[in-house]
Amino acid sequence: MIIDGKKTAAELREGLKKKVAELKSTYNAVPGLTVILVGDDPASKIYVKNKEKFAKEVGMNSEVIRYPADIEEKKLLNKINELNKNDKTSGILVQLPLPKHIDKRKVIETIDHTKDVDGFHPMNVGNLSSGYSSSIPCTPLGCSLLLKKVEKNLSGKHAIVIGRSNLNGKPMTQLLLKENCTVTITHSKTKDLKAECLRADIIIAAVGIPKLVKGDWVKKGAIVIDVGINKTDSGIVGDVDFDQVSKVAKAITPVPGGVGPMTIACLLRNTVECFKKAHYK
Ligand code: NAD
Repeated sequence: MIIDGKKTAAELREGLKKKVAELKSTYNAVPGLTVILVGDDPASKIYVKNKEKFAKEVGMNSEVIRYPADIEEKKLLNKINELNKNDKTSGILVQLPLPKHIDKRKVIETIDHTKDVDGFHPMNVGNLSSGYSSSIPCTPLGCSLLLKKVEKNLSGKHAIVIGRSNLNGKPMTQLLLKENCTVTITHSKTKDLKAECLRADIIIAAVGIPKLVKGDWVKKGAIVIDVGINKTDSGIVGDVDFDQVSKVAKAITPVPGGVGPMTIACLLRNTVECFKKAHYK
């Protein structure tokens, strides 16, 4: 089975479109997503453009605030504080990476955690690890929804997460624990990654190394979710060797067309959730 992230993301957006229309008729207001883009990193520009496009498609308000790469940190923090107080902004996202002179941690912690649609604020990170309601980082949330497409009940499965970033590996681990999986988290210092992978029913690869996970690393019938997006001479490839692994796995996400499209759809979902929480108070 090839897990179709494009189709799943389109279904998710369709559901959100209906939800936004309902919220509009109930509250006479729609969720609003504000994205701040600092500098002109080409990849970030594409991501932000897509976020704006899909937010509008589901009927949300969408605003992109662009600043030059040399913006003063204080000016950026002041803008975030202003957005925190603005009722029209349900969700705030500051596109990463940021220029070196800006303290990423300060930026993340300045965003009101109830508007933190990326799920990076320590309050949301803590809530997620405590099993409480929180904004969940968009890419791991997307991975979880794709896993659920293959198997509704993941309880007791042995999952391996390759990579321990705050963006992907760590929150993914929490989500798998919530599903009652037994989780092994691996990273660059893991001694025998192949042996760890071979024990797993579920493999989540979030590393950034093209085609790292080979066919003979995967147990027959495993589910493989590939988060990697790596530019190579032969185009964009994932962290999993798709041609080899697709012969062994029960289900696998392709790159592109797997996890990638889910990330933005989950961002929109998080924005709707932030709006709902703000209005149900
Ligand atoms: P990162 O660089 O922050 O983290 C990579 C992790 O991989 C680290 O924890 C490191 O310890 C681990 N690692 C490195 N070499 C390893 C090895 N040989 N064996 C095991 N672990 C190893 O990366 P990230 O931000 O988590 O992103 C990972 C990949 O996911 C990248 O390719 C990135 O482009 C992609 N990504 C995709 C999406 C999406 O929407 N699909 C979103 C974010 C990131």
